[in-house]
Amino acid sequence: MIPSSIPRIELGCFPTQLERLNTLSKDLGIELYVKHDDQTGLAGGGNKVRKLEYLIGDALAKGADTIITQGAVQSNHVRQTAAAAAKMGLKCRAVLERRIPNTDIRFDQTGNVFLNHLLGIAALRFVASGTDMAAEMEQEADHVRAEGGTPYIIPGGGSNSIGALGYVNATLELTQQLADAGLEASHIIVTSGSSGTQAGMAAALAALKSSIQLLGISIRQPKAAQHAKVYEEARKVAELLNIPPVTPDQVQINDQYIGEGYGIPTSGTKKAIRIAAQKEALLLDPVYTGKAFAALLDLAEKGYFKPREIVIFMHTGGAFGLFAYEPEFMADLIRG
Ligand SMILES: *Cc1c(COP(=O)(O)O)cnc(C)c1O
Repeated sequence: MIPSSIPRIELGCFPTQLERLNTLSKDLGIELYVKHDDQTGLAGGGNKVRKLEYLIGDALAKGADTIITQGAVQSNHVRQTAAAAAKMGLKCRAVLERRIPNTDIRFDQTGNVFLNHLLGIAALRFVASGTDMAAEMEQEADHVRAEGGTPYIIPGGGSNSIGALGYVNATLELTQQLADAGLEASHIIVTSGSSGTQAGMAAALAALKSSIQLLGISIRQPKAAQHAKVYEEARKVAELLNIPPVTPDQVQINDQYIGEGYGIPTSGTKKAIRIAAQKEALLLDPVYTGKAFAALLDLAEKGYFKPREIVIFMHTGGAFGLFAYEPEFMADLIRG
């Protein structure tokens, strides 16, 4: 589906595992599987590794020596980009938005931020919530050019049609694994943030004429805005690959699990993280997958899935972010 003329480099370990969650399958009365894109390799892995194989491939093809990107303070994307840059001998500069209110100084230094430094990021600049991040990245690019370098800008979350190709691939990989195992899945639940993951998957499923229902759990924006964003991205992916386009109804979004906002875990998020850890030794994260898994558990309880239906949870990673939220979790955990 993806022409070999599109540049790609190898950064991760693929295929990632498709694992049946035995205890939760029994508890929920469904066949629950996790697709382990939390284990894509590369300094802790996560979903950005697949996107970066194409994005860094494109950067190298264009002769770049410095990667510029942006994200929230505890961005997993920035950490994976810093890792990819380190491995490929490129410099990396990132702008971090203080998107989450009421965080203390530790939040700026632990988890993914600590790893950015460990991975040798060349510059890490913190800016206030609501800052024009595209303009900040242009400013970084000007700085690089002024010093004689060649910058390459990767948008937040690595979400453009090039990055989303990673999730076209992931979907081909997953549908092949399902076919090999003789499994007919009904649903895939995925976190929907900057949109590239869901967009790539939606584009691939549409092109495959798959009957699997893909549901994106929004962790930031209301349904209408998130739908528009994912649909637009999926349309661009189809255009780039010259495959049949997705229809608007093939982009399904649920926005009921956001809570107070991006990066603020709800009680349901925390409970889902505990359940996944204690029943399946599955490490979720407080910003993305904890909310998507809370959605899955709640939807299962409300009868959204039919008994014994095969449901795939796309685990997109993020566990290092847990360390930035340790104080919030510890009180409950110690109290038990
Ligand atoms: C970035 C990220 C997502 C969201 O993926 P998008 O392609 O940005 O929608 C989900 N989970 C984790 C852990 C992430 O880091």
